[in-house]
Amino acid sequence: MVWMNISLIVPILLGWLGGAFVNYIADVLPRTRILGRPDCLHCESPFSWADYLTLRACRSCGKRRPIRAWLVQILTVASFAYFWLFPSKLVGIPLGLIILVYFGVVTVIDLEHRLILHPTSIAGAVIGLISGTLIHSRENGLLIGVGKSLLGGLFGYGVMFIFHYFARYFTRRRARKLQEAGKEDDGEDALGDADVILLGVLGLMFGWPLIWDVLLLGIVLGGVFSILIVIVQLLQRRSASEALMTPIPYGPYFIASAFYFLFLFL
Ligand SMILES: [Zn+2]
Repeated sequence: MVWMNISLIVPILLGWLGGAFVNYIADVLPRTRILGRPDCLHCESPFSWADYLTLRACRSCGKRRPIRAWLVQILTVASFAYFWLFPSKLVGIPLGLIILVYFGVVTVIDLEHRLILHPTSIAGAVIGLISGTLIHSRENGLLIGVGKSLLGGLFGYGVMFIFHYFARYFTRRRARKLQEAGKEDDGEDALGDADVILLGVLGLMFGWPLIWDVLLLGIVLGGVFSILIVIVQLLQRRSASEALMTPIPYGPYFIASAFYFLFLFL
């Protein structure tokens, strides 16, 4: 039993590095758009890599690292250890751990900045194509595997693009209503470009027809939480129309759905 636990040192160390990578990308990429030295979010003095990796407070201003940094480290270490012992049946250990890191990066940047960045989209498309091809070429051979991955990507992107097209109509109506109510248009999009690209990536990752399951569960999760949010807002006595028009970021729900089918299903 002790020996089995010692073998967990590998995923725990990898998980710590994976978590640091998620924090690094989420700290640096949305602000600077280049992958430079990490610096303090407060006073911008650079961290040494040793300080950054051990989550030390800034040596210049003493500001502690955000709670998110600790949460990401702990969650990544825990999930690396768990999925090392119980790997994804669809993609196995190495690719599974890479996908976990990708999900972490996209979720943190989506929640903190509501942004989609080209480098993460391109990385996602590459990881997705490898994953979808791996899943579908086992039974059908490489060529059909690639084809099913590409078809899934096209479907995911296409479906979200059409949703997005209709969402724009409601966004414009919302902007008009805000103007009539004498408020500034807050520029929120009912369903962002981020979700269109994310569904394209998840489509590649799962391929056709598995992307259907991911799409449907994501919509159900998003719907259930939206209803809860609207109920909470109504309880706070906001008007029904105002509550219904609050935009919802769908990205995290689709990631949660993909996570379920990739790692917990079967
Ligand atoms: Zn500082």
